[in-house]
Amino acid sequence: MSYFCQEEDLVYCRHIAGLLVKLGVPQYDPRDWRLLIDSCKCVLLHNEDQFASIPLAHSTTLKEKYEAVKYVLHKIQYEKHKWIICIDLKMVNFLLGQQSAFTKYPCFICMWDSRDRAQHYVKKEWPVREQLVSGARNIIIKPLVDREKILIPVLHMKLGLMKQFTRALYKDGRCFNYLCRAFPRLTIEKLKASIFDGLPIRQLIKDTEF
Ligand SMILES: [Zn+2]
Repeated sequence: MSYFCQEEDLVYCRHIAGLLVKLGVPQYDPRDWRLLIDSCKCVLLHNEDQFASIPLAHSTTLKEKYEAVKYVLHKIQYEKHKWIICIDLKMVNFLLGQQSAFTKYPCFICMWDSRDRAQHYVKKEWPVREQLVSGARNIIIKPLVDREKILIPVLHMKLGLMKQFTRALYKDGRCFNYLCRAFPRLTIEKLKASIFDGLPIRQLIKDTEF
């Protein structure tokens, strides 16, 4: 408890190096850890999973908004630790100061144009985004972190791809039928809604027949 404090609606760790040593980490190096931010929680994950996850901040009332995330990052002294950050695309939006919902340029790496539908399955190379300048191309406010620090969780991407994929399949077709046979324990309803977790997706990707 002595490593944490509470301020308004946020509980956060104020002495991270001390906490980790107390929990049995022999030496704290911020490069060994990555920061996971998901809705109202900040958790440190060890890069090689030698240690359990470490909760750094939690709030039940803070919203997923730019100002709130800025406040939390400030409280856990992100500027000092500069961890790699693991977040979903929605959070990428906040952290990089991008306008949320239906942006024309949602990608923080390239200038992929979400409205240029005719090009989506044709054009493979999109120009690289040079800078995130507020006021231009959906950047509305100063980015909170360096975009080189951002990792997108692979599981989120796999779940998203599988969801789009199974939803687009003809439900009477061979491929959907194959999925039903491959996962007899998943109900048709779950398959139709594409409710998978990580393991079946890994199995499918390895499955040459699939
Ligand atoms: Zn891109």
